[in-house]
Amino acid sequence: MDELNRLPCPILVTDAVGRVLLPNTDMLTLVGHDAAHWRQKSMEDLFPPAGRIFLQTHVWPMLLRENSVREIYLYISNAQGERTPVLVNCRAGEYEHQPCYYWVFFVAQERSRFEAELLKARAEAQRSADRLTQANAELEAVHSQLEQRAYNIEIANRELAVLSRSDPLTGLGNRRALSTAIKRWQSRSDSDALASVLLIDVDHFKAVNDQHGHDEGDRVLVALARMLEASLGPNDLAVRYGGEEFALWLPSADRTQAGIIAERVHDGVQKVSIEGMPITVSIGTATLGNCAGSALMQQLLELSDIAVYQAKAAGRNRTVNSMQAPSVERNYTDQAG
Ligand code: GH3
Ligand code: MG
Ligand code: MG
Repeated sequence: MDELNRLPCPILVTDAVGRVLLPNTDMLTLVGHDAAHWRQKSMEDLFPPAGRIFLQTHVWPMLLRENSVREIYLYISNAQGERTPVLVNCRAGEYEHQPCYYWVFFVAQERSRFEAELLKARAEAQRSADRLTQANAELEAVHSQLEQRAYNIEIANRELAVLSRSDPLTGLGNRRALSTAIKRWQSRSDSDALASVLLIDVDHFKAVNDQHGHDEGDRVLVALARMLEASLGPNDLAVRYGGEEFALWLPSADRTQAGIIAERVHDGVQKVSIEGMPITVSIGTATLGNCAGSALMQQLLELSDIAVYQAKAAGRNRTVNSMQAPSVERNYTDQAG
């Protein structure tokens, strides 16, 4: 008996048919009766009617079959008729040389509370996981929107970069494109390498506008741009330098080669006319070495500008090289000048 009292849970010893032989003190505390109350009582009196039926139909058959049952969940009633949930374990044994059953009870109230808390915590965890999943999905959506925006900005930047280097009317590059090309050539070429610029100014273009309208003037500028592009080698560049002025950048071209290209341009201009009236251009060329350094573009343009001025002064429709005296008029009589 002392041994049973030393164990930290309610224990009942019954004979083979369930008559109580011995309750330990924890058992008496749990059910609120004294030991005399149990003498010759059936242990089934511990349970409310539903529990008794369960004992008869499940617990006893299992005990007879396996000599033990584990963790059967039941309610027991105490002296006041209050019900307490318990987990019941039972094993066949011997008591005072007689076959018996040891019934061990664990009060399940705490366990129920823990289970309820566990369920609550699990539901909360599930809600948190759902919130996280949703937040994650929202983050991914925002991330892909940001990526799309970054991509759009990149595209817009590229378009801006192209626009900032191009002339909207003719589609040719502008001064900035010329500057970029010259700098790139300078960085890749030896200091003794030569390069040339042709500055091309349309003769009496104001008269073209005045006589045929600004739109026709635009059309002439576009036609000239296409013709210039067609006159160039693969490494050359045509830009619209100003209103009716174009520049050709001829990397690695010496004075002679620049002159050849200028002739080609004069030939090409002959094919551009407006209502039968021929268009002509005056060209100034300049050739310098890479040793001019950062002032190369400025010097080339200043020299070719002076040469254009000289070509105009000499009667237009001609090419002047910045190092030469003005050439004779080419193949067109300067009617308007
Ligand atoms: P010059 O032979 O001395 O070069 O005479 P010019 O008439 O060509 O020169 P001027 O500088 O007096 O006039 C240039 C004209 O080019 C005036 C301007 O209206 C015209 N022009 C400039 N940009 C454009 C343009 O984008 N479209 C049109 N249609 N005309 C332009
Ligand atoms: Mg001009
Ligand atoms: Mg002009």
